[in-house]
Amino acid sequence: TVGMVVIDNEGRMCVGTSSNGAKHKIPGRVGDSPIPGAGAYVDQDIGGAAATGDGDIMMRFLPSYQAVENLRQGMTPLAAATDAIYRIVKKYSDFSGGIVVANIKGDYGAACHGMNEFPFSVCNPVLGTVKVNYVQCI
Ligand code: ASP
Repeated sequence: TVGMVVIDNEGRMCVGTSSNGAKHKIPGRVGDSPIPGAGAYVDQDIGGAAATGDGDIMMRFLPSYQAVENLRQGMTPLAAATDAIYRIVKKYSDFSGGIVVANIKGDYGAACHGMNEFPFSVCNPVLGTVKVNYVQCI
């Protein structure tokens, strides 16, 4: 899955995902990626999130929605991402997946579980170019 959280030059935010789905998926399976709140979610006033990983588990937790709600409650993007992943891991300890989160100001963070590290790319006017970041998984 490729997920994106974008803020345009007028401060409008959007999110999106594109996925070939899980390996060995059942034909016709609809994964988490197209489901708002699971694969991605945005609130123009708050921020957005996009997730990748075991969609059959993630769609039960709506981690992208949870992360945006965490931002609404005042969490940083990193804390919001970590909490969204942790809520899944509490029930499914072998869960594998990650999430990127950005608030409307452009602050961002990411969290993951079930792999060593999770790469995500950032581009903004301060960086001036695309930078690949790596977050250590919880
Ligand atoms: N979330 C996708 C799915 O379960 C797979 C992925 O992110 O790689 O269909």
